[in-house]
Amino acid sequence: MRLILLGPPGAGKGTQAQRLVEKYAIPQLSTGDMLRAAVKAETEVGLRAKSVMDAGELVSDAIVNAIVSERIDEADCADGFILDGYPRTLAQADAVAEMLAGKNISLDAVIELVVDDKALVGRIVKRAEDAKAAGQPVRKDDTPEVFDERLREYYKKTGPLIGYYYAKGMLKNVDGMDTIDGVSEQIEELLASL
Ligand code: AMP
Repeated sequence: MRLILLGPPGAGKGTQAQRLVEKYAIPQLSTGDMLRAAVKAETEVGLRAKSVMDAGELVSDAIVNAIVSERIDEADCADGFILDGYPRTLAQADAVAEMLAGKNISLDAVIELVVDDKALVGRIVKRAEDAKAAGQPVRKDDTPEVFDERLREYYKKTGPLIGYYYAKGMLKNVDGMDTIDGVSEQIEELLASL
């Protein structure tokens, strides 16, 4: 199973990806997580990405394309993977199409989590509060101010991917305002019908 989860920040892509990881025993490839790990490890990529991420802007296509291409070559991706937060620009969408064709693999579906923007900032604030309460580090970009910029970046650069995948006949959508279990059920039904 090879999937792309699409939706604005706070739509629940990470949460649903985790569920799919358990169900299908395939890894979640979150470019956000990979970049945060690079920032933490102070690698060259991490050092270049940090300020861009802190501002809520997008890291360059070249950097993320390279990270994902390398990751997909790892053994645990042989039976599939869930792309979470990638692709995020039309150039990345073209790059992933080319990348997968070059590796002789294809995507099964692109799933859009359709959400009400007004609810998103509340979800982000809650995510920060929950992390704090659990003694986990709070993401620097999970503040209402940076969130505004992340949402703008989403509509400006990632929104066009909805038309891109729709035109290719690959886009499926689920109601992301449903409960977490409800969204999981919608995704399961959708995958069962592929
Ligand atoms: P996320 O965890 O998916 O919300 O990503 C956090 C931040 O990492 C984003 O705001 C971007 O700065 C960066 N990032 C993650 N994925 C990508 C991507 N596919 N393209 C560019 N930047 C990304």
